Amino acid sequence: MTPDAAAPAGDGAPTQLQWLRRQLRELGARPAHEHRVLRLWSQALPQDSGRRRLEDFMPARLRSALPQITATLASLARLHSRHPSQDGGERLLLNLFDGQTVESVLLPRGGLCVSSQVGCAVGCGFCMTGQGGLLRQLGSAEIVAQVALARTLRPVHKVVFMGMGEPAHNLDNVFDAIELLGTAGNVGHKNLVFSTVGDRRAFERLAQGVVRPALALSLHSVSAERRAALLPRAPRIDPAELLELGEVYARATGYPVQVQWALLDGVNDGPDEIDGLVRLLRGKYAVLNLIPYNNVDGLPFRRPPAERSAQMARTLHQRGVLTKLRQSAAQDVEGGCGQLRARHAAGAPLYWAPRTQPVAGSAA
Ligand code: SF4
Repeated sequence: MTPDAAAPAGDGAPTQLQWLRRQLRELGARPAHEHRVLRLWSQALPQDSGRRRLEDFMPARLRSALPQITATLASLARLHSRHPSQDGGERLLLNLFDGQTVESVLLPRGGLCVSSQVGCAVGCGFCMTGQGGLLRQLGSAEIVAQVALARTLRPVHKVVFMGMGEPAHNLDNVFDAIELLGTAGNVGHKNLVFSTVGDRRAFERLAQGVVRPALALSLHSVSAERRAALLPRAPRIDPAELLELGEVYARATGYPVQVQWALLDGVNDGPDEIDGLVRLLRGKYAVLNLIPYNNVDGLPFRRPPAERSAQMARTLHQRGVLTKLRQSAAQDVEGGCGQLRARHAAGAPLYWAPRTQPVAGSAA
């Protein structure tokens, strides 16, 4: 088993995790063995851990292949560098087996934000990842590998799909990873957060899932025109319809929909947006997360003054919208999604170097 063999699947081909399961079965694994290998990997535990000796219950062929399987899985995502933040979060830059890089973010209080694609096709004007387009999909094992790697650094109880990429554009791999994380990976279903700009295929898939994650919708504007300008290649779903679809799923699962709003100075922080949010969200099973924008060099958007953001949150709350004013985690270290990767890819100096911990053996 080699990393090349575990390359992300194309349309119709088995996902990486399906391929891995097939390999395990060919080595003689029964379902309990397969579950054990995936459980220990996704929970960052050694394959020989546990009280029972492997030779007492595991087929010899599978046992002898375990070192190679372990090496292959470890090669799916390797730590390039760590970038701790003052808020307790930490950005991780990861090398994939083919030399591509992605970011994960360790969040305070046991969360992890994972990437689902290298790059992104949605092209949000305020996002560094969106500027370079989509380079490739992440395979389902590469998504789980981000969790396995993070768990070697600290416990992870919650996984949010809010890193690089649009999860709805990589549904097979994302849902394959969610299913593993919500079973063998021991992450509570409501602690898996599927985030999307909105795509009807994603709602169909959410309704069918064995593991039903919580849902986050990246809204950013209640105006269809403004939203289309900010998120130029997001599916054209009217904001009212999008929130209605989210409401149906939230009621079905019992987890409120999380409405994400990157707060952009002079763009989506005015009275028209506040009125629209009250109209669309009051009485809904939803939480609105206002996230003041983290300025990105070269992009024309700015973070609103702190008092205006706080006032907007207060006003919405007073008018019946459950609103939280949040800061994105680890934002003092290239806080916008994709900034760390972009700087690395451009070969630019990492100006946060004093807080950076290069990993032994990395190219940093
Ligand atoms: S904000 Fe998300 S959906 Fe938009 S371009 Fe960036 S990664 Fe893609």
